[in-house]
Amino acid sequence: MPSSTATLSRITVLSGGVGGARFVQGLLHGLRSGAVPGGSADTEVTVVANTADDWWIHGLKVCPDLDTVMYTLGDGIDVDRGWGRRDETWSAKTELEAYGVEPTWFGLGDRDIATHLVRTQMLEAGFTLSQVTEALCRRWQPGVTLLPMSDDRVETHIAIADPDSSSGRSVIHFQEYWVRLRAAVPAETVLVVGQDAATPAPGVLEAIADTDLLVLPPSNPVVSVGTILGVPGIRDAVRATAAPVVGLSPIVGGSHVHGMAAQMLASIGVEVSAAAVGAHYGSRDSGGVLDGWLVDTRDADQLPRLEEAGVRARAVPLMMSDLDATAAMAAAAVALVTGGAA
Ligand code: GDP
Ligand code: CA
Repeated sequence: MPSSTATLSRITVLSGGVGGARFVQGLLHGLRSGAVPGGSADTEVTVVANTADDWWIHGLKVCPDLDTVMYTLGDGIDVDRGWGRRDETWSAKTELEAYGVEPTWFGLGDRDIATHLVRTQMLEAGFTLSQVTEALCRRWQPGVTLLPMSDDRVETHIAIADPDSSSGRSVIHFQEYWVRLRAAVPAETVLVVGQDAATPAPGVLEAIADTDLLVLPPSNPVVSVGTILGVPGIRDAVRATAAPVVGLSPIVGGSHVHGMAAQMLASIGVEVSAAAVGAHYGSRDSGGVLDGWLVDTRDADQLPRLEEAGVRARAVPLMMSDLDATAAMAAAAVALVTGGAA
């Protein structure tokens, strides 16, 4: 394990959308301000983003998590919503509704549509999602290398109870579960369609193997980090990397901060607590993916449970209320697994 003076030349983060993007924004702030032990403005950050939320709508390929990371780090995000473009207008959505085109519950903003048009045209011209992402990032300059987890089509679907269906259940796309149903009904099963046949996008395995630190940010453990780790080859690469692996709990005080992690954890039978999520990821010493796990100070009473599960853990404030608070979380994560002072 590196000493406290070890230099972090490269950090790789496995990210979902809002939670991951906000964390990386704070990490970059901490690297530039010198708050992260061993890091500096020269530390190269690679973000491997979940693409299992992606879907096709109105003929457009939409990649919510890639775009949330790109817009957040490129200063184009609507900060209050946490997704989509700042100063957005919704004329195209209104016009589609006037034509009676379904679905009307998924809001595509006018500015955002330009991104999806560029992406869709490039994909249809034969470019890969990795190449498209690189092209979009030329405009946004996110300050990281942004990689999709896979160039293959992988889509999370959710099985819910449906008394009107002959089988008693319906399987709907993750976006329908989240955006139309607001995750208000229990998720019976999470099905990640296409995952078994998917391969990691170019550069993903290298970014995991050739890094000085691997971070699981406070992203959804099932439908963000879980789907990334589920791409064949990625979990093995995480288990095999020489770099320390550290995670930060998205569950604080027994619930998610935003989103639907609680519903997703229930669907896979994992208790909604910081300790249970840490134990679910597991220690690399016993078949899991973590060397360290940060929980919020509110969950400090769960540290002995994590120790029992063989996961080195510490309790620090984990609310990403502003850039400095988030940078301090990143610094504590680095310190936990490198021995550096935070
Ligand atoms: P999504 O793809 O937009 O759902 O975003 P992610 O998967 O990256 O992150 C969602 C997770 O971030 C949720 O489970 C939230 O609980 C977690 N989250 C959001 N804000 C915070 C925060 O300030 N602190 C912590 N610890 N977790 C947060
Ligand atoms: Ca997402």
